Parts: sequence; C-alpha cells; structure tokens
Amino acid sequence: MKMVKKITKNKKTYYVCAECNFTYKDKKIAAKCENWCRKHHSCNVEITKYAVKF
Ligand SMILES: [Zn+2]
Repeated sequence: MKMVKKITKNKKTYYVCAECNFTYKDKKIAAKCENWCRKHHSCNVEITKYAVKF
C-alpha cells in the first residue's frame, strides 16, 4: 500500500501524495489528498489548493 512520502527541500520537510504527487507542507493534508485520490481517482481542488509548487 502506498503512503504519504516525506521529502526534504531547501531544509524544509514536505509530504507528497503517493497517488497524484502533489506536495504539501502539512502531513494531514497530504494524507487527506491521498485518501481522496485513492477513493475517487481524481483530485479534490479543495485539497490541492494547499499544494506547494516548486
Ligand atoms: Zn493526491
């Protein structure tokens, strides 16, 4: 089973949804995204609006 991935960029920790690869500062939101993605096979804009862009 896939899990939220922890990454470090510019000395900051981020969490990546293993399903859609969106990156979040908040682990809880990343987990939420992953649950949504797994269930619905699509992204929820209410969640992905918190995604971090590099
Ligand atoms: Zn996702």
